[in-house]
Amino acid sequence: MTILLTTLNARYTHASLGLRYLLANMGELREQTRLQEFVIGAKTTEIVERILAHAPRIVGFGIYIWNVEETTRVVAMLKRVAPDVVVVLGGPEVSHESNEQEIVKLADYVITGWGDVTFPKLCGEILHGPKPLMKIHAGVQPPMDQIKLPYSLYSDSDIKNRTIYVEASRGCPFKCEFCLSALDKTAWPFPLDDFLAEMESLYARGARLFKFVDRTFNLNIKTSLKIMQFFLDKLEAHPDDPVYAHFELVPDHLPDALKEGISKFPAGALQFEIGIQSFNPAVQTLVSRKQDNHKAADNIRWLTQHSHAHMHVDLIAGLPGETVDSFAEGFNKLWALNPHEIQFGILKRLRGTPIIRHTQEYGLTFEPYAPYTILANRDIDFATMQRLVRFARYWDLVANSGRFGNTLPVLLGDDAFGQFMAFSDWLYASTDATHRIALDRLAAMVSRWLQTRGMDKTEADALLASDYAGRNESGSRLKGGAAGGETAAPSRQARHLAA
Ligand code: SF4
Repeated sequence: MTILLTTLNARYTHASLGLRYLLANMGELREQTRLQEFVIGAKTTEIVERILAHAPRIVGFGIYIWNVEETTRVVAMLKRVAPDVVVVLGGPEVSHESNEQEIVKLADYVITGWGDVTFPKLCGEILHGPKPLMKIHAGVQPPMDQIKLPYSLYSDSDIKNRTIYVEASRGCPFKCEFCLSALDKTAWPFPLDDFLAEMESLYARGARLFKFVDRTFNLNIKTSLKIMQFFLDKLEAHPDDPVYAHFELVPDHLPDALKEGISKFPAGALQFEIGIQSFNPAVQTLVSRKQDNHKAADNIRWLTQHSHAHMHVDLIAGLPGETVDSFAEGFNKLWALNPHEIQFGILKRLRGTPIIRHTQEYGLTFEPYAPYTILANRDIDFATMQRLVRFARYWDLVANSGRFGNTLPVLLGDDAFGQFMAFSDWLYASTDATHRIALDRLAAMVSRWLQTRGMDKTEADALLASDYAGRNESGSRLKGGAAGGETAAPSRQARHLAA
């Protein structure tokens, strides 16, 4: 074996689509290439030992925001114990601002951007000469029909135990400055018939959960309808063996034909990740996000009222120009639209994203290390930003977990943001913890909080018991709705790095 493709996934259930693309496109080097995945948190020595057990000449690492720190340690150790092994890096984290990164200094070569054709070419030159002179190689983007689709490389075990990521297109035509896809300029579809043939084959092999990583599934409605029809046909033919699809949507583009298709899906078959990010028009303009807020709100309302789709809607706190008050207004507006989950993300400075143009004027201050979360800006100081970070964490535990479906509306009253912020501040002051709060302790704390707000203890305990006894389990989201299975997707900002 000569070439090893590897990465550290965020979880075991996340199978790397990017590595499988590289393997599928290795051409004549395919036979001498292997793939091995690890999960973050594994011991560095064990990872290095297992990599070297393959006796590779070349190791290609996929580098992402969630693994760059640990992979830096892996590469450093690998280079110490086996300096002759050639290390090639690729992935979004090393595709921008490459030269200043420690991991890049440790590596032999870096491919920026698309690796499908550039990685095998580089490996050929390393193995057979002429020796590549440059360290950093800009990935060549081939025509989409020349990229071999990787889906046969999902093993039976992957299909049985892990999330199957798929993509019908790459790229995004929009330019939201906090997002890496802002650099794409457009979207490029894979040939649809070939893609659907691969989906058919995955389905025949037992895949039932398809997670689309397309940035905007509803860009080309004809294509969206064909893909949805693929799933509707399966659901109709085998209602007792349901299939489940997850798509990302832009919220202000839902023509009637698409609505009609969506309304045909039964409960539990469809999940939408919808990016609102901010309802503040001034902020949207600042970060070049084009969004018709009225249409977006109407469409979310329509989806909650006329479809069974499970909806997970993203907001980002910390954007330039967004104050706590304007964020609160947007949060309450979204809450009133009744989505199943509100994903409350905190702005991150993804390498290469144009948002940095606002750094000085808006005082954007980010963590120096991955995931480069914002610490403060002109309108939100550090202490307040930390309160928002805790809000986001507790919101996941209490609201997005679906465990407090009956209690939550009482907890939030008529000012969801304000009430939850007060609860969040109190919970932190009372527990000094944001992680590892056991469910029974959390329920007791929620009851105590309601009592501090004037609710009778018996009434508060009974309300909590109605959730805590599991009577609300079918409504596993904020206000009821389909149980979503694999719903804890990384935030939109991070997830866009995944493919
Ligand atoms: S946030 Fe969504 S719509 Fe905006 S550039 Fe990124 S992928 Fe495209």
